[in-house]
Amino acid sequence: MIPHGLRINGKTKVVGLFGDPVIHSLSPKMQNTAFCELGLNYCYLPFHISKEALPAAIEAIKTLGMAGVNITAPHKESAVNILDELSPDATLLNAVNTVKNNGGKLSGYNTDVDGFIYLLKNSLTVPFEKAVLLGAGGAARAVVLALFRLGIKKIMIANRTVKHAETFVKQLCDKGAFSPGQVEIISLNSSKVSLAAKESLLINALSADPVEMGIITSGALHHIHAAVDLRYTPPIPTFLQAAKSCGRLAVNGLDMLLGQGISAFEIITGVSAPRAGMKKALTESSKMDNKTKIFLTGFMGSGKSTTGRLLAKMLGISVYDCDELIVSEQGNEVTQIFKSKGEEYFRRRETEILKMIAQQTQEKCVVSTGGGAVLQEENRSVMRESGLVIYLKVSAKEAYRRLQQYENRPLLNVADPERKISELLQERIPYYQKAHYCINTDGKTPQRVAEEIFYLLRLGCD
Ligand code: NAP
Repeated sequence: MIPHGLRINGKTKVVGLFGDPVIHSLSPKMQNTAFCELGLNYCYLPFHISKEALPAAIEAIKTLGMAGVNITAPHKESAVNILDELSPDATLLNAVNTVKNNGGKLSGYNTDVDGFIYLLKNSLTVPFEKAVLLGAGGAARAVVLALFRLGIKKIMIANRTVKHAETFVKQLCDKGAFSPGQVEIISLNSSKVSLAAKESLLINALSADPVEMGIITSGALHHIHAAVDLRYTPPIPTFLQAAKSCGRLAVNGLDMLLGQGISAFEIITGVSAPRAGMKKALTESSKMDNKTKIFLTGFMGSGKSTTGRLLAKMLGISVYDCDELIVSEQGNEVTQIFKSKGEEYFRRRETEILKMIAQQTQEKCVVSTGGGAVLQEENRSVMRESGLVIYLKVSAKEAYRRLQQYENRPLLNVADPERKISELLQERIPYYQKAHYCINTDGKTPQRVAEEIFYLLRLGCD
């Protein structure tokens, strides 16, 4: 499926994202939106590249004539040695996140530094003099360089493995990024971090939550200047929530992702990036990504169950089928439950099950709902609040054709089933249309429909 607004033809320039994994990346949505907005004939696609496949994938940039790629974890450092030339920041950090193909010559850049500068300039209006950085991984290195560029004189790094911090600070000093003594290194110890964090900008560049790990207490957060967390899923992690509760400014890493994306776009296309559009796409995409449930609604025969299973497999998440759950709990087919206990009973159980799935867990999952689930206002709001609702649209004619193979559809045991389908569908369409998105399923296999939803979630630029 080609995202709406993207022109794909013989002249389309391909930009890739190489990483492992890439399935949850928000970059395709952000970059494709930018191409659409400026009418550029480019397309941004994620490629799942293993460690072993990286050299061949980098070579393929030349072979396929790709415009460039973004490189994400875990390849940022390994890519350095395979490229033809490196920008000063990529050399300093020994890591690359953007590659431009200059007619067969591959130039590597690191735009994470730009990303962090963008985040700070956009979120912190009050100046600060001291920064405490938790972490010494790849992202932390870019943060240190950005802090120096912004003129922050006092920087303290706290890391679990002190040696990792010492090694990277030495490497940066040896390359002349700053002088020894300008950065102090401490262990990731609660009392040391709490003391150091006083009056500072406290930045979390760990891949874990410092409050959940007990590295910093709420008491200590009352005394910090502001809190930044490089993570953006969930949008407000426990650390930022705690800082907010102490009345401190708390900023997540979404603007860093945006900032690095803006620079990467400009390096690869040579055109000024449409910043507002990219920010909007990223914010919407991250909201969508944080909706943990994907509810499939639609009439009988729209393919909710099969599509749900296929989509869940593609996304690597679990799937629940409301009708199947009721059938297995009652030990009876839907027709029999309707006969013995009545439709009202069935609908009540359906609501209880939907609520249980929606409220019980933070787990990401696909939920295939029964054809009549949307009729209850309560069900519609439970679904919309806890997830993304996707309406699988089917015409009456196609639904009838697909349903002829089944005998146990209670609402079809009537004299003229085709007419009954048409009448019921007309009644329900206004409720189905309250979904966030609609996918037409007529003439398509469940596999094709699942792929469309997958690309809507990952690449879409409507
Ligand atoms: P990384 O290179 O793997 O570094 C991970 C860091 O976390 C290291 O300092 C590591 O300490 C520490 N750590 C991991 N598990 C820990 C634990 N259980 N207890 C204490 N410390 C622990 O990762 P990275 O690429 O720097 O990424 C760090 C975070 O930044 C991730 O959450 C990532 O998603 C985020 N990030 C965001 C952006 C953005 O654009 N917003 C960009 C890049 C990264 P050791 O040195 O002791 O192992």
